[in-house]
Amino acid sequence: MSGYVGIDAGGTLIKMVYRSGDSEEELVKFAAEELESAASWVRRTIPLGAQIGFTGGRGNRLRDLLPEYASAVEVPEFEATAEGAVRIMQREAGGQEAAAERWVLVNVGTGTSLHVIEGAERLRLGGIGLGGGTIVGLTGLLCGLRDYDEIVRLAPLGNREAVDLTVGQIYAPAPPPIAGDLTAANFARQAPPESGVLPQDYAAAMIGMVAELVVTVGVQAAKLERTTKVVYVGSSYENNALLHELTFRFTEMLGAAAVIPPLGAYSGAIGALHKAMEHFA
Ligand code: ADP
Ligand code: MG
Repeated sequence: MSGYVGIDAGGTLIKMVYRSGDSEEELVKFAAEELESAASWVRRTIPLGAQIGFTGGRGNRLRDLLPEYASAVEVPEFEATAEGAVRIMQREAGGQEAAAERWVLVNVGTGTSLHVIEGAERLRLGGIGLGGGTIVGLTGLLCGLRDYDEIVRLAPLGNREAVDLTVGQIYAPAPPPIAGDLTAANFARQAPPESGVLPQDYAAAMIGMVAELVVTVGVQAAKLERTTKVVYVGSSYENNALLHELTFRFTEMLGAAAVIPPLGAYSGAIGALHKAMEHFA
């Protein structure tokens, strides 16, 4: 048996999942510009008879590099993401169907897309051009820090109040009418603190801004769609402790419940794999 593969070639990262026989599922990722390396990995690892689902904005470019794989199918990105998220949520529930449940899916990739899901009903609600790509891009522009691993390592050490204007800062010394540590305006602190602003402060403020925005649109969408469950996926959550923490905190604060499944970065790839299985069944 040659197995099944799902390949999600996005704006920043190529995510792949390979399932064969009873061996462990393999998950790998490459930078989006490493199309050639990703193609060589496939040639080295995947038998020619494997059934492959390609998705994502660069899925077809990768597929063109691998013409020898005859059993390949293109899967529309939003279908793949929703299918993968449903499969991941089913795994989280220990294989039990949660078919009756209605939830909003927020895919925080390079940018962000929003979907509502209820069993087989999967509707894309829209998206915003703010996501993991904004964290890397703007932190880089602000202070030259553009290495993702460094950004997520430093951010928890940073102080957002060096950059953001909080409600407490505006009202001080009077007590604020809402929690003082809430952001009044991102990046609006007028006077820089005595010590200057450190790269980690920018990283923390960027992740804070993205968390606030994706949670706000996610929870608003959930309310319009009559649910309180919001599932966040995308590689922006990979090793990003601060984004996890803030996403949970803000979602709860706005009256909904957040789920951030560990395999969420691979939702598009897992969905493409399942769509390929269905296609060739
Ligand atoms: P896309 O499908 O658009 O490629 P992803 O869901 O893969 O998006 O998420 C991309 C984001 O994930 C990046 O913008 C960055 O914030 C974060 N990220 C996680 N791991 C990495 C990495 N190794 N290199 C660069 N960015 C990463
Ligand atoms: Mg993506």
